[in-house]
Parts: sequence; C-alpha cells; structure tokens
Amino acid sequence: MTLQIGVIGTGAIGQDHIRRITQALSGARVVAVNDINPQQARDTVTRYQLDAIVHTDAHALVADPAVQALLVTSWGPTHEEFVLAAIAKGKPVFCEKPLAVTAEGCRRIVDAEIAHGKRLVQVGFMRPYDAGYRALKDVISSGKIGAPLMLHCAHRNPSVGDSYTTPMAITDTLIHELDVLRWLLDDDYVSAQVVFPRKSSHASSHLADPQIVLLETTRGVRIDVEIFVNCQYGYDIQCSVVGESGVANLPEPASVLLRSEARLGTTILTDWKQRFIDAYDVELQGFINGIRDGALTGPSAWDGYAAAVAADACVKAQETREVEAISMGARPAFYPR
Ligand code: NAP
Repeated sequence: MTLQIGVIGTGAIGQDHIRRITQALSGARVVAVNDINPQQARDTVTRYQLDAIVHTDAHALVADPAVQALLVTSWGPTHEEFVLAAIAKGKPVFCEKPLAVTAEGCRRIVDAEIAHGKRLVQVGFMRPYDAGYRALKDVISSGKIGAPLMLHCAHRNPSVGDSYTTPMAITDTLIHELDVLRWLLDDDYVSAQVVFPRKSSHASSHLADPQIVLLETTRGVRIDVEIFVNCQYGYDIQCSVVGESGVANLPEPASVLLRSEARLGTTILTDWKQRFIDAYDVELQGFINGIRDGALTGPSAWDGYAAAVAADACVKAQETREVEAISMGARPAFYPR
C-alpha cells in the first residue's frame, strides 16, 4: 500500500521532504499540498511533477479523504493548529520542529494525542537518526565507557543573518541538542544556566555570541554546550561523552584525508543542510514505515514538549543569569522510553 501524504508548507524544508518522498524514499506519495502562498504550492507541484491537489485552505487538506497522513512544514507558529487538526481527524502527522512555539502549546498536543488513545505525532528531530549519534548511543549502552558523567558539546555555524537574536541561539540552534542529548543519555534535564564568554567581533549588536549552556540531568550528568553561530570556519557539531572508564566522541562526517603541499588535512562542512542529510531520509522513511506497521517510534509529542520546556528554562536563564529549574512533570505511561 502506498501512503498518501498531504503537505502543509512548501518552503525550504517542505520542498526538501517532498523531493525525498518523491525521489528517495519508498512507500509514500504526495497527493495534496498547501501553502499560505498558493502559487508556491502550485510551483512545487510542477517542480516535482506531483499528481497532487493544491488546497488553498490547510484545513481542507487535513480533511481531504485522499490524505492519509500529514507533513507540517509551515512556519513554526502555525504548527500547533495543524497538528491538533490532524489529531482531531485521527491522521498521523510528521511535524517539523518546533512542535509548537510554547511549552503550553506542546502540552495541548500531548493531551490531545493521549485523549485520542494512539500515537499519531512524530516531531522532526532528525539527529537520533544520524548514524554517528546512533553509534555513540550504542557505545554508551554497551557499558564500554562506564556510566556517563559529563558531556562536552559544541554547535557552531559559520555565520547567521542579521535577524538572528540571542534567544534564537536556544530556540533555533540548541533545540537540536536539547532533544538529542536527552535521547542519548535516556535522561531528563533538571536545571539550566547560560554563561556568556567574551563576545565575538563578528556577532551583530543584538546577539550575544558565543554562549555556553550548562545543563544538569536527573542522574547528575553535567553537560556543557557551546553555541557559537559566527565561528567563521564551518558548520561543526561536537559531542564528547566522558564516562567512568573512557571517553566516546561523536564521529566526524566522512571526509577524504588529504596529503598535499606539505599539509595533512580534511574539509569541514560549511552548509548545515549537508551535515545530517542522510538522517532526514531515515527519519521520514521511519515515519512512513511506522504508519505501515501501526506504531510510530520516532521523536514523540512528549519529546517535543520536553525540548520546549527545557528551551523555555534556557531562555529564562539567558535573562536571569541564574540556574533555572527544568520541570516537566511525570512522563505519561502513554510515551514509554
Ligand atoms: P520557510 O522556507 O519559510 O517555509 C515555510 C513555508 O510555510 C513558507 O512557504 C511559508 O509561506 C509557509 N507558511 C507559513 N504560514 C503558513 C500557513 N499558515 N499555512 C500554510 N503555509 C504557511 O521555512 P523552512 O526553513 O522550510 O522551515 C519550516 C519549519 O521547518 C520551521 O519550523 C523550521 O524550524 C523547521 N526546520 C527544521 C529543520 C530541521 O533541521 N529539522 C530544518 C529547517 C527547517 P511564506 O514564505 O509565504 O510565509
């Protein structure tokens, strides 16, 4: 059976996922699209030669009987409305991050999904699908480095646009670490603090860059994440796990080791889209397969909520410069680990 998917939002990632479903993945096809700009939706249908209806009303797309599952790839503030509409119709929905722009909004989605009685939501956190992070998790689970004690992480971008602000270092950038490190450690955060080193001369007047976020988990693991979005040299993701008896590092992306002109070196990626390109394929194929098999297993609405609660605390910590508690309540049995 081919899963019939409707896509709301045909911007950058929406089109990329449509390309993926159409050209790279199996078991699904795009049958309906919507965008606040209908011409963009029509152009997308033409570009990818889709046999798909363009709905000018997103809710009409959700209700379309031909649409069996949804991709929500529109602007973040619209996600909650469309995910709740999908749940109300009992249709599985893959929602790009953020699940909702507030923790309360994420909680409303969690509550609606639990009331429905079956998992319908997968959040577009792709790093748990990255082969490097999966290998790192396998090493931790094997016990080879003993219990994790500390994590040293970095999220560096060459540069960001002028519209990028200090809180976006949390809500747009750190949000991926907030999700993947919970998954990596199988643990939850209890507190956050943000400290600000000397500011880079490459940062705009309204951006504190770099920043260091300090997190603590329920088991007492201490995590430091450097966020440096004007590092100039490349897009660089680092994660080093220090355990009781060893250290495990996230593998570097594959790159040719070059000996030339009396130098030994490899290239560093500069485009963030390339860094996790394979993981996007695996996550979306996982969503399609999960629907086929009757059980979604990817990042859940609870994971979206947990990331949002932690992000709120980090943004507050940016303002107060204090250690802020992170409290999300008990994990519902509906979302087993
Ligand atoms: P984008 O290029 O701006 O695309 C968003 C699209 O949604 C635009 O075409 C926009 O139209 C449309 N839209 C806005 N409001 C809408 C509405 N009410 N109904 C239907 N369509 C609407 O942004 P993007 O980079 O694709 O990002 C989209 C989402 O994906 C964001 O939440 C972003 O955080 C997330 N994302 C995640 C990753 C990841 O690594 N997982 C990567 C990239 C993006 P207009 O342009 O006319 O406003």
